[in-house]
Amino acid sequence: AENATRQVIALAEESSAHNYHPLPVAIAHAEGAWVTDVDGRRYLDCLAGYSALNFGHRHPDLIAAARAQLDRVTLTSRAFHHDQFGPFCRELADLAGKDLVLPMNTGAEAVETGIKVARKWGYQVKGVPDGQATIIVAENNFHGRTTTIISFSTDPVARDGFGPYTPGFKIVPYGDAEAIERAIGDTTVAVLLEPIQGEAGVIVPPPGYLAAVRKLCTERNVLFLADEIQSGLGRTGATFACDHEDVEPDLYLLGKALGGGVVPVSAVVGDRDVLGVLKPGEHGSTFGGNPLACAVGRAVVRLLATGEYQARARELGEHLHERLAALVGDGVVEVRGRGLWAGIDIDPALATGREICERLAARGVLAKDTHGSTIRLAPPLVVDKDELDWAVDQLVAVLREV
Ligand code: PLP
Repeated sequence: AENATRQVIALAEESSAHNYHPLPVAIAHAEGAWVTDVDGRRYLDCLAGYSALNFGHRHPDLIAAARAQLDRVTLTSRAFHHDQFGPFCRELADLAGKDLVLPMNTGAEAVETGIKVARKWGYQVKGVPDGQATIIVAENNFHGRTTTIISFSTDPVARDGFGPYTPGFKIVPYGDAEAIERAIGDTTVAVLLEPIQGEAGVIVPPPGYLAAVRKLCTERNVLFLADEIQSGLGRTGATFACDHEDVEPDLYLLGKALGGGVVPVSAVVGDRDVLGVLKPGEHGSTFGGNPLACAVGRAVVRLLATGEYQARARELGEHLHERLAALVGDGVVEVRGRGLWAGIDIDPALATGREICERLAARGVLAKDTHGSTIRLAPPLVVDKDELDWAVDQLVAVLREV
C-alpha cells in the first residue's frame, strides 16, 4: 500500500471498532463500475456494496434526484406528511405488484419489521395463541445483525457471545421443501427465506423449491417472507429472484439497492390483509420514509421500471457464468449463481478466499471473500462485457500465480 492508503488505514485501525476486516484499499472517488483509491489507483468494483450499488456508483439519475431533494426538504419525521412519501410507496408497491409499502432504513430493520408483522398477523388473523408464534428459517441464513436476527443465525461468529437469544424460530435445511412441510405446525406464522442465499456463498436452491414453499405456505395459512435485500432489484436478471419461479411472496423485504448506494432505504412490501395489521404507534422509525430516501427510492424504481438493468444482468450474467464454468477444475471447485451474481469456490489447497481477493485487488479488481475459500462476484449492473471479461481474466491470472 502506498502512502495515502497507509495513512487512511492506520487512522481507521486506531480509531474504530474492529468489527470488519477490510481489504487494504482506501477509496476516494467512484463512478459507474469503477473506483479510484486515495493513491490514484483504479479498480473495477465487483462487489458493488454487497449489491447496494446495482446501478453503479453515482448513477446520474439518482444523484440528480438526491440533489433536487437536498434543495427542498430532507427530513420531516413521520409526525408529518411530505410530498415524496405517497408517490414512493405507490410506485414501489406497483413495481412489486402489491398494495402497500412500509419504508425503513436498513436491511436488518426491514427483516425485523417483517418478523413483527408476521407475528401480529399470526395473533390477529390466524388466531395463534398469544406469545407462541413460530417462524421457520433456513440454515446458513443471513438476514442482518440485530439481536433477534442473530438469534436464528447458524453462524457461530455472528451469534456466539450475544445471547440471551430471541425465541420463536425453527431452523430447517435450506433447499428442502419437505423439511419446511414437516416443521410447519399450528403456531407457525411465517417462513422467512433468502430466495438465493447471499452471504452463505450465493447458494441457489434446487429448481421448484420456492414454488413448493409458496404452495405449502398457501395451503397451511403461513406467510412467505422473501428476503430479497441482496437478491432483489435486478441482480439476478429479474426484478426479484422469486420471479424466476413465478413466485409471489406475501412480503418482500427490500433494502440495499433500493437506496441506490446513495442513502439507506429499506422497505417491506405486501398486501393490505397482511401489512394492514399494524396500527399507529406499533412500529416506526425516525428516518424511515424520509424525503431524501423517498426521492432517491423513486428514482431507483424508475430505473427498474425500464427493465434495462434486469436485462443487462440476465445477458451479461449468462456470459459471466459461461466463463466461470470453464474454470471449474482449474483451481475452481464449483461456481454458483444467477445473473450478475456468482459464488466461486476456490480449491482450498490453493488459497483462501481472502488471499484471492487481495491478489485480485492488486490487479485492480475488487471482490470479497465469504466463508473460507469462496469468493463472490457481484459487479454493478452497468458493467460492460469487456470489463467483465477483463475481471475474469484477472481471476484466471491470480489462480495461475497462487
Ligand atoms: N438480508 C440479506 C439477505 C442481506 O444480504 C443483508 C446484508 O448483507 C441483510 C439482510 C442486512 O442488511 P443491512 O446490512 O442493511 O442491515
